[in-house]
Amino acid sequence: MSETDGIMQMTASNLQDGCQGSVIHRAGWVIIDPWTIYPNGYVRVANGSIQEIGQGTPAGSDEIRDHGNGVIFPALVNAHTHIELCALKGRIATHKGFGFWVKDLIEKRALLDDNDLLEASEIGIQEIIASGCGAVGEISSLGLTLEPVRKSGLAGVWFREFLGDHFSNTENLEGRSGDLQTSLAGHAPHTTSPEALVEIKNRTRERNAPFSIHLAESDEEMSFLTTTQGPWKEFLLSRGIDTKSWGLPVESAVRHLHAIGILDNRTILVHVLHADQTDMNMIHESGAHVCLCPRSNFALHGKLPDLNGMIKTGIHLCLGTDSLASVSSLSMLDEMAFTAKNFPMAGPERIFQMATLGGAAALGLDNRMGTLVPGKQARLAYLDIQASKASRVMETLVNFSEPAETSRTLPFQSNIETITQ
Ligand SMILES: [Zn+2]
Repeated sequence: MSETDGIMQMTASNLQDGCQGSVIHRAGWVIIDPWTIYPNGYVRVANGSIQEIGQGTPAGSDEIRDHGNGVIFPALVNAHTHIELCALKGRIATHKGFGFWVKDLIEKRALLDDNDLLEASEIGIQEIIASGCGAVGEISSLGLTLEPVRKSGLAGVWFREFLGDHFSNTENLEGRSGDLQTSLAGHAPHTTSPEALVEIKNRTRERNAPFSIHLAESDEEMSFLTTTQGPWKEFLLSRGIDTKSWGLPVESAVRHLHAIGILDNRTILVHVLHADQTDMNMIHESGAHVCLCPRSNFALHGKLPDLNGMIKTGIHLCLGTDSLASVSSLSMLDEMAFTAKNFPMAGPERIFQMATLGGAAALGLDNRMGTLVPGKQARLAYLDIQASKASRVMETLVNFSEPAETSRTLPFQSNIETITQ
């Protein structure tokens, strides 16, 4: 059991702690899903999976672990992060424009060796687990983080990310190891040729695996895609990437991906800061998932996605923290609190759903994670909150954190506990 001032994540290794039979985890509140909360609830766990959810006094003689008057909830899902970039924490200027940020990131990452990156990644993984997260969508462009993520016991998808004119890869990057699946990601439509994106997407499609891509994030990306001009074209040429055969200009970033057949229900579109109603309808009809990273968007672009429009359109939504090169923490508690503060209309239930079942669905884990129901994996977290009635539980949990991006600095030193079995 890992504990940081009250938040505890309960995962496969510590939920049962050597106990042969079932173990009962009890708390003042148990969140089954965002709209179903049990007072004085318990979760019966055996062999790493949920056996029963109940209220009051459980039958039988199983060991009972009483976590307190706070709340047990499904472990959170960080659907988009770059653990590989943890060493850049606090080193990249986010306020000098996106173009400067990209160049600064590339230059400063080049000064670090693999050991520096791996050491910081380990710290990042601990932060992720300590903030109640049980699954990640990790984007790795250097291929360094597969082993650390695998060893950590986190579930999710480790994406090897590619960019440039041509996709060529001989490594075996597709498969599953326990709850961690490996797959492929294309970086973005303004850095990766349509030909390469189609090739990468087809490789994931053959295995029905998730595919991830950054989309419609910056003004630079949008003006390049829609006019083929601007500073981004110069930047690509300076990196030896020729875009003459990319079929540009296009009407929008979303329409571009739609036209080349990238949008479907196994695709995760990350950011989507620039989307009109036609784009949103297109995403909705395709069944693609949109992963929002509002803190990163705010830091790098001073703007936020149209979450309310996406909810109204019925798009499948999830949340991610993005990397420490643009945000202050990898805590999903921070991401939820920032999102709740900036989108009060969305409601805490919806935001919590994005941070749990929405992320699990995007990563292909919704039959195993995201809600607390018998048969699903026992990946639970406990947070020591005070709530006098069920209707206050979700609001208190979602707004628990005070991320540095909105007010005083409070990184992942919170009150979460990870329940593991
Ligand atoms: Zn990213």
